[in-house]
Parts: sequence; structure tokens; C-alpha cells
Amino acid sequence: MNKATIASQIDKVLTRIAAAATQASRLSEDITLIAVSKTKPASDIEAAAACGLKDFGENYLQEALDKIQALQAFELTWHFIGPIQSNKTRPIAEHFDWVHSVDRLKIAQRLSDQRPAHLGPLNICLQVNISNEDTKSGVSAEQAPELAKVIATLPNIRLRGVMAIPQPSDDPTEQAAAFEAVAALFNTLRLTNPELDTLSMGMSQDLEAAIAAGSTMVRIGTDIFGARNRS
Ligand SMILES: *Cc1c(COP(=O)(O)O)cnc(C)c1O
Repeated sequence: MNKATIASQIDKVLTRIAAAATQASRLSEDITLIAVSKTKPASDIEAAAACGLKDFGENYLQEALDKIQALQAFELTWHFIGPIQSNKTRPIAEHFDWVHSVDRLKIAQRLSDQRPAHLGPLNICLQVNISNEDTKSGVSAEQAPELAKVIATLPNIRLRGVMAIPQPSDDPTEQAAAFEAVAALFNTLRLTNPELDTLSMGMSQDLEAAIAAGSTMVRIGTDIFGARNRS
């Protein structure tokens, strides 16, 4: 996509975030925009960085590593948001700043063991399967508190909060309920982990509903970089 198009798409997304924040009596500064650049070339990320974006989300390890390498000079913050195979944790621990898609202890343990000490703790969100969909990754809301408790004790990762991808819905009430269920779980976890500060939810189609429910990080791909050839 050309640079001017990416710039105007980012403007539109920032305007939507600001409007949703105002609507919810929140500050837009409290909502971080993660530009999801999976399948898109490094040049698109460079164009988005030129607009002031710093946070980028990637799902596929190999293509992400290539882009992280190519864009080193920009000092971007990289978020891994895709499914994680346990034999791929080392490069994730070595090259990313955040991992949003942790849903089992084994992965968290490996990330903690493999995180290079000089980088400081890796920021982690627990991915929660809030709609209990068979096809989706994520720990169930029922099992999340126990998992969070154990993960919070690991030395080289820092548990920051919860990530979820609620089932898309055309019914605004149903959509709001799903995001509110994630927010309720987040608030429950904060009772025992008051340092948790991140609620990662909201994508191109539903960022307004996510912000209304308290999202602090929205992950936007299509509405910044255009449709993907594969997803
Ligand atoms: C691809 C992806 C996104 C971005 O979705 P869009 O609908 O393109 O905005 C956000 N979060 C995750 C986990 C994704 O895999």
C-alpha cells in the first residue's frame, strides 16, 4: 500500500479511537494502538512508523523476524499475537517485547527460561477464550486465575494482563457482553495481581465496543494496511 494511504488510514483509526474514548469518558492516551502488520511488507511498517506509530503486532514468526531485523534502526516495540508452538519460544523470547497469546504454563515457562537477561522481563498477556469456542486458542475464563497465579511467579516475564478475541457479532448487545466478560475477568485477576494494567482487545471491526468495555490496547490490521491475502 502507498504511504499516503497508510497515513490517512491511521488518521481514521486514531479518530475512531478518540471518539470511542470520549464516548466512554476515557482518555485516548490510555489506549495503545498496535498496528497488526502480518503478511505486510517492511515498507508498510516503515510508512506507519513515519506517522508516529511505535507498536506493531505479528502472528507468523519467520516473517516477523525478517521484518524486526530489517527495521532495527526504528526502535519499534514488537508484539507477538499469534499461536505459539513450544519449539518456537526461543526466538520469540529473544526478539519480541510483548507476547499476547500465552495460554498455557509450558509456553510461559519456556519464554521465561529463554528470555535473555539483558533485555529485562518479557511482557505477557494471557489469551482467554471468552466465548469458549472450540476452534480458538486461549485458556478458559474458569482456568485463567490459576494459570495467572503460577505465571506471575516466573522470573523473566512480567504478566501484564489479558488478551481476547471475542466471537464477532452483529448484535451490539451480544458484542458488548463478550467484551464486558473479558473486562470482568481482568478485574477479577487484578484483585490478586494489582499490577496488571493491560486489557488487549478490539480489532478493525469492533474497536469501539472494546474501548467501551475498557480495552487498553487495540490491535488493528485491515483498517490500517488493507485486506490481507491470507490471515
Ligand atoms: C490479525 C489479527 C488482528 C488484526 O485484525 P484486523 O481485523 O485485521 O484488524 C488482531 N489481533 C489478532 C490476534 C490477529 O491475529
